[in-house]
Amino acid sequence: MLLGPPGAGKGTQAQVIAGQLGVPAISTGDIFRANVSGETELGLQAKSYMDAGDLVPDEITVAMVKTRLAETDAKGGFLLDGFPRTIAQAEQLKESLHELGDALDCVLELVVDEDELVRRLSGRRTLVDGQWVQRSDDEPETVRHRLQVYREQTAPLSGWYEAEGLLSRIDAIGAVEEVTQRALDALEACRGTRSDGPGAG
Ligand code: AMP
Repeated sequence: MLLGPPGAGKGTQAQVIAGQLGVPAISTGDIFRANVSGETELGLQAKSYMDAGDLVPDEITVAMVKTRLAETDAKGGFLLDGFPRTIAQAEQLKESLHELGDALDCVLELVVDEDELVRRLSGRRTLVDGQWVQRSDDEPETVRHRLQVYREQTAPLSGWYEAEGLLSRIDAIGAVEEVTQRALDALEACRGTRSDGPGAG
């Protein structure tokens, strides 16, 4: 699972790392955005929260992730990007995985200071139909609110996963390839640790 504030590079790293590991990258933000564009019931439920930079309620988000994790491509492993984002989501994820006889192997926290995040997010643009567009929730006021939501609701997950013995922190400033290498090294170390532990083999 990748943990980190908006703008830390979770989406970019998730794509590369999942590609290297041969597992799907599951991004709740991407699933919500696809539902908003497709004007589905789920998209309609999520849109107002997303536009405001708030979290979509846990019940909606957790149900969506459970459905996604039940798909065939997630059977051999998966990389979560942007989920869980609250302690309640983390507890429910742990419980659902436990019911399946499974558990997270590793949580990587991408660490970036807040000045750098604001700089990255306010400059972020995506190419859509040949035009560079800004995500509506990347506007400066919404960015500040999303960072506050992160500090209040998501940052406590760092200590929570540390207590679970799953957390590795990596410096996420630098070239994309450098950060990917740090992430892969940390993942290797934590998978190594876990495969030495009880139940290994
Ligand atoms: P992201 O692309 O991960 O920055 O997510 C964009 C937006 O989708 C967030 O600001 C939230 O409104 C919503 N979202 C994504 N993941 C979650 C989650 N795990 N819990 C609640 N809301 C989420």
